[in-house]
Amino acid sequence: MTEDTFIDLRSDTVTKPSLAMREAAKTAEVGDDVHRDDPTVNELERQAAQLVGMEAALYVPSGTMGNQIAVNVHTNPGQEILLERESHIYRWELAGASWISGLQTRTIDAGDRCVPTGEAVAEGIVEEDLHRPGTGLLSLENTHNYRGGVAVPKAHLDAAATAAHKADVPVHLDGARIFNAAVALDVPAADLLEHVDTVNFCLSKGLGAPVGSILAGEEGFIEEARRVRKLLGGGMRQAGMIAAPGLLSLENVDRLAEDHENAERLAAGLDAFDGFEVPDPDTNIVLAHTEGADLTAAALVDACEEAGVGASPFDTYITRFTTHLDVDADDVDAALSRIEGALTALPAE
Ligand SMILES: *Cc1c(COP(=O)(O)O)cnc(C)c1O
Repeated sequence: MTEDTFIDLRSDTVTKPSLAMREAAKTAEVGDDVHRDDPTVNELERQAAQLVGMEAALYVPSGTMGNQIAVNVHTNPGQEILLERESHIYRWELAGASWISGLQTRTIDAGDRCVPTGEAVAEGIVEEDLHRPGTGLLSLENTHNYRGGVAVPKAHLDAAATAAHKADVPVHLDGARIFNAAVALDVPAADLLEHVDTVNFCLSKGLGAPVGSILAGEEGFIEEARRVRKLLGGGMRQAGMIAAPGLLSLENVDRLAEDHENAERLAAGLDAFDGFEVPDPDTNIVLAHTEGADLTAAALVDACEEAGVGASPFDTYITRFTTHLDVDADDVDAALSRIEGALTALPAE
């Protein structure tokens, strides 16, 4: 713990690679991965596929690229992609589905637990005819980032996925934080994924790797995904240098429970501040609603930063705090007392 260092709760992407990860990078066996010659990348892809119960996996530079490759491989230009209204692919990937893959996006509302109901999916699917484009893909998200790291239970995922499959529409899961969901729900990630066709997850978030994500699915899908990765400029050469820390990051799945405990501790502390409303988090993302304190997210984030705590503005009155590998319970307590100090120092309006 940290007398004066900045406590960075902006995201779980801010973790720095451990000494062991740096050592692993230094000594990694490498080769040209575009030629499939990198043994470290091959091993990472093998272990990652196994961990999510899929046939094959592809190491990609980022979660955004993994999602966009999946979207591209599943669909044909001119089709629709069905997305939940607040999903990452819809909100935060630069309209990649239309830009890269020539798709029209159709958004639907989430039901309970941040996932569209089977009925909503069925209603949202468009059957191709002379006038209508046809739905090429349903994409779901777990944990749900924008809605506060909600861990979507298997039954909810299954209902949405089954409705899509009934109409012959494949299902991708944006599982950037799928292991946070698995740990929170106390089920293996592979179980949660039973009815989805492909999944993308980030090594560079709660798992603590410096770089990279994994796209997993059937063998034939991953073969095609490898071509699209090359097309997007993601064919990497001696990538074992970054895959080696990625392999170590897979050992960090179980310890995500600590991040969830720290998030609960943080949420309880923030909720006690005047006018703050902070729901108990499922996982490592805490959303502070501060309209009741007449405090905008921009003002809160500035005040936090001044006091030595990093946070992310999420909406006019919603600020996100994320716990991760590089903060412990003492850091959370220190962050809370710094924020409390900053709030008392704010000029009254
Ligand atoms: C972070 C995130 C991504 C994108 O991952 P990057 O590695 O930042 O490109 C995709 N989906 C969700 C839900 C995320 O939280």
